[in-house]
This record gives sequence, C-alpha cells and structure tokens, in this order.
Amino acid sequence: VIPIGGADMPVVVALLNSYSGLAAAATGFVLMNHVLIISGALVGASGLILTQLMCKAMNRSLPMVLFGVGGPAMRAEDLYEGRVKTTTPEEVALLLDGARRVVIVPGYGMAVAQAQHAVAELAHRLEQRGVEVVFGIHPVAGRMPGHMNVLLAEANVPYEKLLTLEEVNPTFDYTDVVVINGANDIVNPVARTNTPSLIAGMPILDVDRARSVVVIKRSLSPGFAGIPNPLFAADNVLMLFGDGKRMVEELTEALKSL
Ligand code: NDP
Repeated sequence: VIPIGGADMPVVVALLNSYSGLAAAATGFVLMNHVLIISGALVGASGLILTQLMCKAMNRSLPMVLFGVGGPAMRAEDLYEGRVKTTTPEEVALLLDGARRVVIVPGYGMAVAQAQHAVAELAHRLEQRGVEVVFGIHPVAGRMPGHMNVLLAEANVPYEKLLTLEEVNPTFDYTDVVVINGANDIVNPVARTNTPSLIAGMPILDVDRARSVVVIKRSLSPGFAGIPNPLFAADNVLMLFGDGKRMVEELTEALKSL
C-alpha cells in the first residue's frame, strides 16, 4: 500500500477491513465455528460493498486505485500567486443578506472545528431572513462515509435539507452564495479536467457555478489528497481565513447586526 496515497487511501482501508472479515470466516471453517463463519462473512461482505461504493463515488475502478498512480501535482505558488481574494465575516454577512439561495458545503474542517452547531445556527438565522438554505453533501466529505450527515443530524439540521451530490449539483447555476466550511478535495475542479491527479475523475460538487463562493479554512494548505485547489484562485471565490467554528460564529454575529 506504500505507493497508494491521497484520496485513494480510504478505499484501500475499506478493502483491508473486508479482508479481516474474510480471514475470520476462513478461520471459522478451520475451527468448525459457525459464529466465526457468519460474523466473518458479514464483515467481509460489507467491507467489499463499501469498497465498491467508494470507488463508484470517486469514479475510479478498484484496479486503478490499487495500481494506478497520480500525476505530478501543480505548484501551489504558481496557482495562487496574486489571485486569491480574502474577505471578512462582515463582508460575507452583507453578501448573505442579499442572497435568495445559499448552499452550505461542509467538509472535514467542519468536523475538526466542531462547527456543526454554529453552522446550523447560521442556516437558521438566514432562513429567518427569508433565505433558502440547503446543505450539499459529498459522499466522501470528511473522513468516513456519512460523516457530515451524522454531525449535522447532531446539530438538528432537518434531513430533507441535506442534498446529495446528484441533487445539489444542478442547483448551483441558480445559487447566489455557496459557503464552504472546511472542505477542499470535494470541491476541487482539477477532478473535472484531464490533468493526471489523485482525484482525477472523482465527481465533485460544482460550487464554482454559483454566483459567489466563500471558502472558510485556516490557510491555503491542501486537503487529504495533498493537491492545490484552483477554486481558491477563481474570480467568484472569496477566502475567509480562520477556524471553521469561530468564523461562522462571527458571521452570524455580523448578520444579527445588519
Ligand atoms: P479535505 O481533507 O480535502 O480538506 C479539509 C480542509 O479542512 C483542509 O484543507 C483544511 O484546511 C481545513 N480545515 C482543517 N481544520 C480546520 C478548521 N479547524 N477550521 C477550518 N478549516 C479546517 O476534506 P474534504 O471533506 O473536502 O474531502 C475529504 C477527503 O478525505 C477526500 O479526499 C476523501 O477522499 C478523503 N477521505 C474520505 C473518507 C470518507 O469516507 N469520507 C475517508 C478517508 C479519507 P486548513 O488547514 O487550511 O484549515
């Protein structure tokens, strides 16, 4: 597994997990132990199903994950230099105040910052001002399947507000503002190009089609796949640098004072 890296690693972890189940089932046959055979078969089968689902979500075949290699990464300095625009919570509050439709895209950073309650509060405030708010959930956002769904459910965000990749992508064309909280790879447009990279071919959330995009993260550092993200240098994108929870709280405060 040493050459396998970046976004392919979770698929390999799921596959290796399934092998542990298959090994247990095989041991069950040797020991004539029915419990071991059944539990091992369940672990093995569910691991294989999860592996297949994750490959599908990333638009990659299993042999490509196991034996393919990523291409050379572009240089972050060349990509970002002089092109990245920063913003403040007050500016973003003004932008959100004038919006009719907002999509919030959570990623791994929201989990790290434990920002789910702050994000739910922001959505609630916006809805009180008549803004339509939904959440765009990528199948591999975070670090485990369903990671974002679990966190947002904990913050009492209604399930029907969580749109899947297939549901939310066609709506970006008429979305006024996208607020990305700690997501990176799942919105990296490099995946849509022919550039060889670890995320090439992975379906992404097409956030760049929205009128404005605000990205909340602490720096320009890459995500799990370790590659720069041209989205951060796009014309319609503003970077709000800071911790995912603190920035959303400041944003909500700024919104209250408008
Ligand atoms: P990424 O890992 O691509 O990016 C997360 C971003 O969060 C980082 O760029 C980081 O930027 C930012 N961040 C970290 N801490 C904070 C914080 N406290 N506040 C604000 N931002 C923060 O996450 P995505 O969710 O976009 O993508 C998931 C990736 O993980 C994919 O590559 C996927 O393949 C992989 N993966 C998914 C699994 C799954 O089953 N869901 C399992 C294992 C891996 P900065 O440091 O600048 O703040």
